[in-house]
Amino acid sequence: MSNIRTTRRRMVQILVAVLSVPWSGRTLAQPQVSESEPLAQELGYRHNAAQVDTQRFPKRAGAQGQNQFCRTCQFFQGGGDWGACTVFEGRLVNANGWCNSWFGRR
Ligand code: SF4
Repeated sequence: MSNIRTTRRRMVQILVAVLSVPWSGRTLAQPQVSESEPLAQELGYRHNAAQVDTQRFPKRAGAQGQNQFCRTCQFFQGGGDWGACTVFEGRLVNANGWCNSWFGRR
């Protein structure tokens, strides 16, 4: 009987420890957005903003457009090379990427 209580208590301790690990906004389980998927195609998403078709998406052209990256977008969550994007339902986009939904942080 005491073994069952000890095991149960230990399991609860492990569960509490796992749940108390801070999340940094970056979860490895989230898949990356694919440049070839329909929404990415529609929004002109590229992992490398320098590869954006500026003829099709003139918003990324010019001096102001050159400073637009996922890492400076209000929909980007995270501080590393990859972060979750709310436009893509939390899937990962590259910090140096861009899409036509870019909106600067305030
Ligand atoms: S909405 Fe912002 S963070 Fe998301 S892909 Fe477009 S530019 Fe990047």
